[in-house]
Amino acid sequence: MKLQRTFAEIDLSALAHNLKVVTRKTGNKDILAVVKANAYGHGAVEISKSLIQKGVSYLGVAFSGEAIALREAGIKTPILVFFDRDHIDECFKHDLTPVVFDFKTAKKLSREAVKRKRKIAIHVKADTGMGRMGFTLNKAQKEIEKIARLDNVELEGLMSHFSDADLQDKIFADKQLARFLLLKSGLKRSKIVFKYYHIANSAAVLSMPDAHLNMVRPGIMLYGYGDDGLKPVLSLKSKILLLKKVPSGAPISYGRTFVTKRKSVIATIPIGYADGYNRRLSNLGEALINGKRAPVAGRVCMDTIMVDVTDIPGVDEDSEVVLIGRQGKEKITAADIADKIGTIPYEVLTSIGQRINRVYNLRNSSSHE
Ligand SMILES: *Cc1c(COP(=O)(O)O)cnc(C)c1O
Repeated sequence: MKLQRTFAEIDLSALAHNLKVVTRKTGNKDILAVVKANAYGHGAVEISKSLIQKGVSYLGVAFSGEAIALREAGIKTPILVFFDRDHIDECFKHDLTPVVFDFKTAKKLSREAVKRKRKIAIHVKADTGMGRMGFTLNKAQKEIEKIARLDNVELEGLMSHFSDADLQDKIFADKQLARFLLLKSGLKRSKIVFKYYHIANSAAVLSMPDAHLNMVRPGIMLYGYGDDGLKPVLSLKSKILLLKKVPSGAPISYGRTFVTKRKSVIATIPIGYADGYNRRLSNLGEALINGKRAPVAGRVCMDTIMVDVTDIPGVDEDSEVVLIGRQGKEKITAADIADKIGTIPYEVLTSIGQRINRVYNLRNSSSHE
């Protein structure tokens, strides 16, 4: 594939470092690596392969389509599908593990498993306070007991999800954990035991050791966000498309929201909101060029931005442009961008579009997607 001027550089050594942090924090718990949404924008196939090679035993995705893409890329590791329901056939055909949060789906899976003369492993989800998927606590025990009586269904995992484990104040997260453990022991009394118990997302991996149980489900921390000891995996880089000298009073971009106040040098960079460079970064974002910060001038367009490089000496059309990442002593993280536009690094990373090539680097070797 032809490499575009704008590309995302994925540092697999940083990924390995972040995975080591998970291992160091959790001891030797099983790790279910969350690679939904194209591995948070980093490229699900390459990231999954790299993580599996380093000891990850389970993958997690949102929808079965994402899991099938991994299977088609030759990945044999178990995959948990969080948010799907009408994917009974796919679960059997591609050997996927569904998260089950209603009895009807459990029954369908059982019926299909019996028909195919095989078993199906499932994880059941309890809602301990997230208010999203899962059996509500007053019903969870009874519903899961009903599922346990279904033929050919193997209860492999019991799981739940935190709503605010990232807060300093753990009062509610602790409550969720206590509820989960109560359900776990209630089911145990009914002789229902699971191979895996898991509730810990990245925030809980980092700050709630009691929540690690025997499996953890980190996502964002693998990609380098959530703690200072982690290394951002993704850099977003480009090259100047056109460098232009303009007089004072020159309007730049749609709506003429930026007008030069002096003789200026304006660089056009081939990335826009269609690539995930958020339009709210108009007159607000920055790019690193020659180790200095160049402000976005005017509105972000669909495919381009203009940056003001008047104060940066020695810029030419071969100068490297960094939109996320380090250059010299300067750096811009997805968290910096998120703060500017009132969102979270998750959204900044997962918004990076399909037109952006992902380039994978591991020390000296590199490969292009
Ligand atoms: C996305 C997701 C995770 C990972 O959360 P992070 O905050 O990125 O660690 C874990 N479990 C479930 C069910 C999820 O949807």
